[in-house]
Amino acid sequence: MEHAILAEGLRKRYGDTAALDGFDLRVPAGTVCGLLGPNGAGKTTAVRILATLLRFDAGRAEVAGFDVAGQPDQVRYRIGLVGQHPAVDEALSGRENLVIFGRLFHLGRTEAKRRADELLGRFGLADAGGRPVRTYSGGMRRRLDLAAGMILAPSVLFLDEPTTALDPRGRNEVWEAVRDLVRAGTTVLLTTQYLDEADRLANRICVLDAGRVIAEGTPDALKSRLGSDRIELVVRDVADLPTAAGRLRRVAVAEPEVDEDRRSVGAQVGDRAGALLEVLRALDADGVTVADVALRRPTLDEVFLQLTGRAAAPAARYGDTVEVTA
Ligand code: ATP
Repeated sequence: MEHAILAEGLRKRYGDTAALDGFDLRVPAGTVCGLLGPNGAGKTTAVRILATLLRFDAGRAEVAGFDVAGQPDQVRYRIGLVGQHPAVDEALSGRENLVIFGRLFHLGRTEAKRRADELLGRFGLADAGGRPVRTYSGGMRRRLDLAAGMILAPSVLFLDEPTTALDPRGRNEVWEAVRDLVRAGTTVLLTTQYLDEADRLANRICVLDAGRVIAEGTPDALKSRLGSDRIELVVRDVADLPTAAGRLRRVAVAEPEVDEDRRSVGAQVGDRAGALLEVLRALDADGVTVADVALRRPTLDEVFLQLTGRAAAPAARYGDTVEVTA
């Protein structure tokens, strides 16, 4: 099986709304695919269809080598789904929750307990396994959720916004858990509002808009589609901004953007290092003191904005990962 997830020309309408309008997806086995898109793009619809929870109108889909429409039981047996809302019971311990999930999946009592302990260990919850879930941190709860989605060791796992509302530490914990699963051979389809999450976890990213994939590639390939890198300069004296903007304009491929409050000027440039050297030499000769300088690649956020015409959700901005390579 080359592709763990395959969708061809999927269509799904809700009344007048085409939620999926010729959706194509190919996810090689053992990889993570990030499914990104603005609100209403069709992400949840796609995941629900692939997880056999929703019928579709036209097209074809295979998951774990089985036809989603024709062999839904075979598909269900091989997938896990971790939704946005915790499926675990707060009053019970982590171990009790996992044993109940195991029993729901028809494991025998002994096997369910064995599997629960195995998963608690795998997700770093062995010590907390006997405590009620209400005493867990957000990251621990999501890891327990992941564990619950892994009871049957699925070969394909659907993760719908797995780290929404987690603090940075909780997000890191979940990311590590997902990486472990992938190392063990699981294929993951991840929907997320956090572009840096997709950047870090996904081998490939599909950008969905109005029910169809409008761009696809590795995070790096998508970023390099924007073509040019960006130089950002901060000058010590705000009066030097026009001079700095003038020097930057000569190497830029677009009009420099000036921010007086930050005493900064930035622009897309064609030739990374050459442009930076030229600007810095010229400003030095002009007697302009540069307080800070950054040369950075486009962020996934900028790619997303260019592709969809919309920014990612404000809380989901790709952070300040400025890469200074000068
Ligand atoms: P979000 O990021 O907001 O969760 P999404 O990308 O997951 O969005 P979907 O939930 O798949 O998008 O919705 C795709 C389109 O289908 C939207 O226009 C939505 O309003 C519509 N839609 C989804 N579910 C239904 C439904 N049960 N009835 C009617 N319209 C629906």
